[in-house]
Formats: sequence, structure tokens, C-alpha cells
Amino acid sequence: MEIMGIQIRTIVQDNVARRCDGCHGVIDGTPWRINLLDIVAAEKPVGWAERPMINPGPFQFDGDPACVRSWMAGKGYLFCRRSEVREIMRPISIPADRLGLCDGIHRDDHEFIPA
Ligand SMILES: [Zn+2]
Ligand SMILES: [Zn+2]
Repeated sequence: MEIMGIQIRTIVQDNVARRCDGCHGVIDGTPWRINLLDIVAAEKPVGWAERPMINPGPFQFDGDPACVRSWMAGKGYLFCRRSEVREIMRPISIPADRLGLCDGIHRDDHEFIPA
């Protein structure tokens, strides 16, 4: 950045505090980012027109999985207890227009619980 011909070296990013999407505390160091993949239906295919809109992120957290869980709870997402909080989560549409988040790694049925 340059003001009146004087070069000012500012690392802008350092001046902006990154905040955790879970607890809204300032993130110290590198944020832990989570991306959401496209929604997959657990039972029946969902038509394009009925697809719920979802913000794929990335969402950033301070590295505490509890913050991710509280963020999910705030969004009304369910969490599959056979999965773990990972950098990439798969949203799964479940009855009653809700979304469950799973890491998609286990091969048996999802078990969604309130996050
Ligand atoms: Zn946090
Ligand atoms: Zn699952």
C-alpha cells in the first residue's frame, strides 16, 4: 500500500482478527477450516429444485472440535456419531428437512444425534 508516495508495508491479514465460527473467539495461529461437500440424500434422491441451499464454507475454527459441534448445533445440523469432525464434512439430507453432517468414512448406517 502507498500513501502520498510513501511505501507502507502492512500485512493486512495480521490486522484482521480471525474469529472462530463456534465460540467467536479470536483464532490464535492457523485456523482450522472445514468445508461442506454437496448434499447427498440418505434415503431418496432429492430433485434439483428441492435441494436445500447450503453454504459450503470454508468455516474456520480455533481447533477445538467442541467449537465445531456448537457451530453445527447453532445451524440446526445433526452430527453423525459414527464420524469425526474433519476438514471435509458431507451434509446428508435426512427426514424433516434437516441436515446431518458426517465425514463419510464409515460404511455402515449413519447415526445422527444433535450436535
Ligand atoms: Zn472456538
Ligand atoms: Zn455417518
